[in-house]
Amino acid sequence: MPEKQTRKELEQRVKRAFRAFCFSLFGFFILIPPGYLSYAQDNTKKEVLILNSYHRGYRWTDDITEGIESVLRAESEDVSLYIEYMDTKRVSDERYFHQLHEIYKHKFRDLSFDVIISSDDNAFNFLRKHRDEIFPGTPVVFCGVNFFKGSDLEGHDLFTGVNEEADFKAGIEIALRLHPDTKRIVVIDDRTTTGMKIHEKLMEIIADYQDSVNFVLLEDIEMERVQQIVKGLTPDSLVFYTSFYRDKSGKFFEYDESISLIAKRCSVPIYGAWDMHLGYGIVGGMLTSGYFHGEAVAKIALRILQGENVRDIPVIKESPNRYMFDYSQLDRFGISLSELPKGSIVINKPSSFYSEQKRLVWGVIASIAGLTFIIFILSLNIFKRKQAEERLKEAHDKLEERVVERTKDLNRTNEQLNLQLKERKRAEEALEKERNLLRTVIDNVPDYIYIKDTESRYLVSNNAFARFLGATTPEEVIGKTVFELFPKELAPKYYADDQEVIGSGQPLVNREERSVDQTNKSVVWNQTTKVPLRDSSGNIVGLVGIARDITKQVQAEKALRERTMALERSNKELEQFAYVASHDLQEPLRMVTSYTQLLARRYKGKLDSNADEFIAYAVDGATRMQEVINALLAYSRVGTRAKDLEPTDCNAVLERTLDNLQKAIEERGARVTSDPLPTVMADDIQLGQLFQNLISNAIKFQGEESPHVRLSAEKSGNEWVFSVLDNGIGIDPEFTERIFIIFQRLHKRREYPGTGIGLAISKKIVERHGGRIWVESKPEKGSTFYFTIPIRGENSHE
Ligand code: ADP
Repeated sequence: MPEKQTRKELEQRVKRAFRAFCFSLFGFFILIPPGYLSYAQDNTKKEVLILNSYHRGYRWTDDITEGIESVLRAESEDVSLYIEYMDTKRVSDERYFHQLHEIYKHKFRDLSFDVIISSDDNAFNFLRKHRDEIFPGTPVVFCGVNFFKGSDLEGHDLFTGVNEEADFKAGIEIALRLHPDTKRIVVIDDRTTTGMKIHEKLMEIIADYQDSVNFVLLEDIEMERVQQIVKGLTPDSLVFYTSFYRDKSGKFFEYDESISLIAKRCSVPIYGAWDMHLGYGIVGGMLTSGYFHGEAVAKIALRILQGENVRDIPVIKESPNRYMFDYSQLDRFGISLSELPKGSIVINKPSSFYSEQKRLVWGVIASIAGLTFIIFILSLNIFKRKQAEERLKEAHDKLEERVVERTKDLNRTNEQLNLQLKERKRAEEALEKERNLLRTVIDNVPDYIYIKDTESRYLVSNNAFARFLGATTPEEVIGKTVFELFPKELAPKYYADDQEVIGSGQPLVNREERSVDQTNKSVVWNQTTKVPLRDSSGNIVGLVGIARDITKQVQAEKALRERTMALERSNKELEQFAYVASHDLQEPLRMVTSYTQLLARRYKGKLDSNADEFIAYAVDGATRMQEVINALLAYSRVGTRAKDLEPTDCNAVLERTLDNLQKAIEERGARVTSDPLPTVMADDIQLGQLFQNLISNAIKFQGEESPHVRLSAEKSGNEWVFSVLDNGIGIDPEFTERIFIIFQRLHKRREYPGTGIGLAISKKIVERHGGRIWVESKPEKGSTFYFTIPIRGENSHE
């Protein structure tokens, strides 16, 4: 049976490959088949003869041989097989058997076998006849003997075997079970020896189905006819094929050829009785299998080889038939596998790999399971490791994050610190710079700067002070006291001043004091300021002194004072002189005036015309001189004949003044008005003179309209500001200063009479009262003269 052989070989190969695989993979044993363990305890080779009735290539015979070999070769390597084919399928006459007898007698004369296995009837019959002669005493195990009867072995010792009995009943039963609607079964067999035996058996069985199924027997018939019949069968028919090797015409067909020719034409399912027909067109059935027969007899032979007595081994009556099917035919006729009896063998199964390679598959599955388990364990380990790694990574990441954050924090703090450091450095540099600047300033100012502790001991001195003390550098001064640096007459005083400042906490400011320059021992004047020096808690820890040499200033002030006094003196003298001069000049001038006037009156027209003119000039000149001298006298009297300042009601003074000016006011048609005026500390005569000068000028320098003069006074701070406003000709701003100078006039006498002394007197009066005088004016727009009188004491009121 080639399929079985292929499958077996494949299984062996796979086993070896798998074993190698397992070994290489695990390094320990997996699946070592028991057949690989050494069987031969006995080193003597066992000789076995297989005597086949038929030829090699006849499938039945080949299947039996394969079945025998599968057991003997696999079970024991110490068995030597001798296979003989009688070829009686092809030749089976008496003569041939006789010749075979002769040949074997000769052939095996020197050979002895431990056991003989015979297949099929001819070999069995030959051995029954000739064994004692050719193989005396050798046990025989037979198979393939159709329908064996116990009587067949009568008189034959040392024979045992397996009965071959096709189970037609079971075959028909299973066919009808799978095709319950079957009405007709066409049985095909031939008229050979075996065919006749089959016919006999069939007839016994058919009787049981008389009522249900119609059996048609195709026996003595040509192949063509068989083909025609099976072709025309109705679907309620089945074919039961047993054997059809020789037809009516005597034509011989090989087993595969016969069934193939029939199956090719047949439209209904064909059931068989021998497995050698399976795969050539039959659906299957309860089949007699050469391979299983071979296996069965080989197992008996093995028992004999292992020492069992053949007499103790009975003939196996039950033929090792099996339910066997062809998947392609099952599929063709719509029969599912589940309908088949349990344990059925199905060939051509598409998914039969598992069933064929069950061990391999399970081995692989076991390996895979083992591997899976290992993989699982490893995966678990990997998973756990990964988890641990992840945890570690997480922890690491967190740690890194924290490190990064901490680093950032540190960087920030560092930056801040750096910034602070930089700022501090900058501040220190700035401080240092300032200190240097301060030190430079302190060292280079001409003033004396020093710091003393509470014991009047010098802690700091600048260059100027060190020089003043006669030292070359400030360091020479540091640590010394005033007693070591100043003369005896000065030191105690300075010490006392220091202690006063330190004790009281009150500064001594700008004290002018005499001192002695220790460089040249010259007397100098210093202006000294001493300020208490406090620590951060406010405690006095010494003093800071600043002194300035004001010797030159003191000397200049003294000189100025002296000059002012001299000036005042000379001024006084001058005023006195002016007064005396003008006063004393009045008398002779009056003489000149009165006599020239007398001359004019008495001799007018009596002398020549020039004389009249000359006399007129003389009179005019004398008059003018008188006016000038009067004015000068008046001017000098402001200083010399002054009264003390008393509270003076300005309204009363104004009233008197207007009385004096009444004539001029009337002549010019002037209007003089006034706001209420205050009472001020003044010399009322001089104040009247001031009012008169200003009002008379306001009337005199009248413009195109009749004069209007207005007086008023306003309090401003500590003084009264008086104003005299007119609508006269006004003054060019260029001359507003000049007009207050004595004898300064802006007009000719012919235009406006006057001496040019009125405003000079007014200025002098105002200044004598401690005030100022000025004018604001524009030509043609009138003028306003302002003067101030200081408000003094309680006597000043409005
Ligand atoms: P006099 O009036 O005698 O000329 P003053 O000293 O009084 O002398 O005045 C000086 C000059 O100031 C005047 O000559 C005049 O030119 C000018 N002046 C004074 N008062 C006025 C005024 N109210 N309007 C215009 N000019 C004035």
